[in-house]
Amino acid sequence: MSDSSAPRSPLPSVAFVGLGNMGAPMSVRLVRAGYAVTGFDLSQEARAALAAAGARTAETGAGAVRGADVVVLMLPSSAVVESVLGDPALRAALAEGSTVVDMSSSDPMSTRRLAADLETGGVTLVDAPVSGGVKGAENGTLTIMVGGAEDAVERLSALLTAMGTARRAGSVGAGHALKAINNLLSATHLLATAEGVLAGERFGLDPAVMVELINTSSGRSGSTDNKFPNFVLPGGYDSGFGMKLMVKDMRIALGLARELGVASPLAQHAVALWERALKDLPDTADHTEIARWTFDGPADRELVTG
Ligand code: NAD
Repeated sequence: MSDSSAPRSPLPSVAFVGLGNMGAPMSVRLVRAGYAVTGFDLSQEARAALAAAGARTAETGAGAVRGADVVVLMLPSSAVVESVLGDPALRAALAEGSTVVDMSSSDPMSTRRLAADLETGGVTLVDAPVSGGVKGAENGTLTIMVGGAEDAVERLSALLTAMGTARRAGSVGAGHALKAINNLLSATHLLATAEGVLAGERFGLDPAVMVELINTSSGRSGSTDNKFPNFVLPGGYDSGFGMKLMVKDMRIALGLARELGVASPLAQHAVALWERALKDLPDTADHTEIARWTFDGPADRELVTG
């Protein structure tokens, strides 16, 4: 017979800041896993949606983090993470001994600076960016790339498992570096796939047949496996991951390579093409629109390709 009177360690209280395409389903998973979640987002609509799922919400970031053991951030960029963590009211509300988990795709150099700064107040920063898109966030099947001290990462194990599969990549910033490099590869594959499919189609190949056969061949990637069949070929271009965010990640990876003295001519070229697409398309464009932009053939593409 099991001893039902045995003490069980209580789940940590969680503040969740950033309830957008990813943060909304991720925070709901934590609520369903039994965590006491207090959410905050600038958007009233996003706060109301989380409240409807059974969480508490706060009117300010400081209000959300007050008394929380763990503060999860799922924000657009390092600039936003820095401004949220730089808010004096929020900093004063952060409890000594608490852990901030930045699950956004942030710049690893900024993450290292923030970690050192937070440490002065007895707060530990762990970076835990994710891959797997909105579907992965909904299903709890995200890949979570974690950077931080081993003991801090260990303490977060159950919480992260509620959202996906976590693996420690190294010390603080390592998760963010890996995520940026992953997205640079992913964006480069997607653009290369679009160019290849366009050429094949002009030759007379059926794009769906091409993608199917490539998926059992050596040209296979996340773009042929997931993005083309689900978001490009059906014509929806609706993955839920913005082009602006993808270009931000590519710039982080390229900046990192530059800072480390790694020549990256292919990455430079890919970033230039994506930046051109970003300029040509509406601000809200999904990142998979890079394929439609390629199919449509931008009038002055030669300016980009040199
Ligand atoms: P999003 O734009 O949908 O959501 C960001 C949310 O942050 C918005 O709801 C916005 O209102 C909120 N926000 C902005 N500034 C704020 C502030 N100062 N205080 C509180 N809330 C604020 O973005 P997303 O697609 O959810 O992406 C979030 C992060 O995850 C990004 O870093 C992105 O690169 C990364 N990411 C996204 C995906 C994806 O498929 N969408 C996949 C992996 C990683």
